[in-house]
Amino acid sequence: MKLGLKIFNKEDYEKIRPLFDEIDFLEIMAIEENDYSFLKEWKKPIIIHCMHQGFGINFANPMVFSQNRSALKFAIKLADEFDSKYIVVHAGEKESGFCAEENITHFLKKYDKRILIENSTYKEEKRMRYFFDYSDIKRIKEKAQKGFCLDFEHASKTAKQLDKNILDFVKELTTLEPVYFHICDGNCKDKEHLHLGNGNLPLKEFKKLLPYDAWVLIETFPNPKKQEKDISFMRS
Ligand SMILES: [Zn+2]
Repeated sequence: MKLGLKIFNKEDYEKIRPLFDEIDFLEIMAIEENDYSFLKEWKKPIIIHCMHQGFGINFANPMVFSQNRSALKFAIKLADEFDSKYIVVHAGEKESGFCAEENITHFLKKYDKRILIENSTYKEEKRMRYFFDYSDIKRIKEKAQKGFCLDFEHASKTAKQLDKNILDFVKELTTLEPVYFHICDGNCKDKEHLHLGNGNLPLKEFKKLLPYDAWVLIETFPNPKKQEKDISFMRS
């Protein structure tokens, strides 16, 4: 298994420096105003994550088309620079009546084969999201001709929101050939990105679902002491 940690900026990078020898890759949140030249010294692989709803990006919404395009182009530029294997994106959410699945698939179809769409939760603050369950993921992934990043925490929360069994729901998603994984703990309600063991997700069961050569991002907050434990949990 290849394990990675996520950073947004140089500050995060410096925080996790003590763990550099223990991880195999970094995932970078590609924030357009940030300068990532500090990563030139990093010699292991880098995965790119495109900006998402938290940054006003929404591939379902044609009203923010130019922002969407600019964010994805920036992510692709970084991926070229660091020779990245994958570029992770969120599909989008229903912000208004203008939002539609076709906007996502038409837009993404035009871009890079390295793009993976990450499964979302079903709903956040009463807003529906796209790419959350088996049929939604299968359909959008095929139409957009893109790969799939499985986020265990998003899937668990979605299962709860839809009143389904978490493990059955997640197992079904693993049949859609995810090639990259996000893992963290959570409570399926308000807590996200908890360190492993600090929530109530069936992480040991999730671990069993991973292919032996899986690329897994531990999606927790930069903290060397706590993330050292996250890493040893995953390696145990
Ligand atoms: Zn994620």
